[in-house]
Amino acid sequence: MDLLEYQARGLFRDFGVPVLPGIVARTPEQAVSARTDLDAEVVVVKAQVRTGGRGKAGGVKLARGREEVAEVASAILGMDIKGHTVEEVMVCPAAEIAEEHYFSILLDRAAGGYLAMCSRQGGMDIETLAVEHPEALVRIPLDVTVGIDGAVGREIAARAGFPEADHEALAEVFVSLWRLFHDVDATLVEVNPLVRLTDGSLSALDGKVTLDGNADFRHDWASYHASSGETELEQQARALDLNYVHLSGSVGIIGNGAGLVMSTLDVVERAGRDLPGAPRPANFLDIGGGASSQVMANGLRIIMSDPQVRSVLVNVFGGITACNDVATGIVHALELLGDDARLPIVVRLDGNSVEVGRAILEEAAHPLIHVEDTMDRAAATAARLASGH
Ligand code: GDP
Ligand code: MN
Repeated sequence: MDLLEYQARGLFRDFGVPVLPGIVARTPEQAVSARTDLDAEVVVVKAQVRTGGRGKAGGVKLARGREEVAEVASAILGMDIKGHTVEEVMVCPAAEIAEEHYFSILLDRAAGGYLAMCSRQGGMDIETLAVEHPEALVRIPLDVTVGIDGAVGREIAARAGFPEADHEALAEVFVSLWRLFHDVDATLVEVNPLVRLTDGSLSALDGKVTLDGNADFRHDWASYHASSGETELEQQARALDLNYVHLSGSVGIIGNGAGLVMSTLDVVERAGRDLPGAPRPANFLDIGGGASSQVMANGLRIIMSDPQVRSVLVNVFGGITACNDVATGIVHALELLGDDARLPIVVRLDGNSVEVGRAILEEAAHPLIHVEDTMDRAAATAARLASGH
């Protein structure tokens, strides 16, 4: 889960990383009063969206005085940055920047460890720098049992070519960022730019933090989830450990394996294209391998509580999980749901023990279940049922 900049800066502050104050505003009026509260003549107004490159897109602007703040905030609010609509801005006192540096800690999956990256030359062109002057961006694998202590912090500063007089102050920031990375279970903490202000002090001017969703159970991330744009159904699904994404259509989808579910979305989209109302997929839901009937019931319940859904397509390829288990799961799931099961369910099973699986469904002769033998036919039936014909 990616945090917004103001959330990342909140964590920085909690862990003793120097940051300037900031106030979030949702309207130009709120931006103006934020400036008053900050008691700053010049402020920077920053779009709060989960994507980088806001500066280049015009989403980070300096503003002097009340009127200019209102103008800049109304220009940025509502702006589209790489497909993200700006609903909030952060207003901060403008920093007087002497130098912009780069620092990050990330999970290096290929190496199976953590990596620190640092450059004296940070700022908006870090990607270009990484390509054209790779030597200017040092990469330092971290020992997971140590992370970043004072000695490692000073080494990072030295390897990145900072003058010795700065090593201690930089190391302090790196150590705090490591503690944050470690304690919040992040997979990425990035500060770009980490600036030296004209008074000589350091400040983390921008922040990106990615939290590891697998560590969700160890933390209280409710406020982050609440601002993450998740729909209510997605929140319910997450509570049930389901891998669910809400979409806009009327054909509910359940499958096993992300690849199969993705292709099911495509096939349903195509099947619905020429039908009245052009029914489309209502969701992505991957119940994974070895799903129990309880998981199937949870999935069906979430999908059937979506008021837009008119039909459900269950598309399962039996691998490790045999089709007879899946079929039994569907029948049990319908028993568990009782009267909550209210929509036609088209089932396509294939793979391991498919004959037994189909026989179980036939025998159950449940009025809501329609069995189809291919993915295309199943998609066509589900789309037709959703379009009401
Ligand atoms: P990004 O483009 O999404 O990475 O947004 P940043 O927060 O990194 O801002 C982009 C650039 O705007 C920074 O690299 C700075 O050069 C500039 N910038 C941001 N905040 C300030 C500020 O307070 N004062 C000044 N002078 N420049 C700023
Ligand atoms: Mn940045």
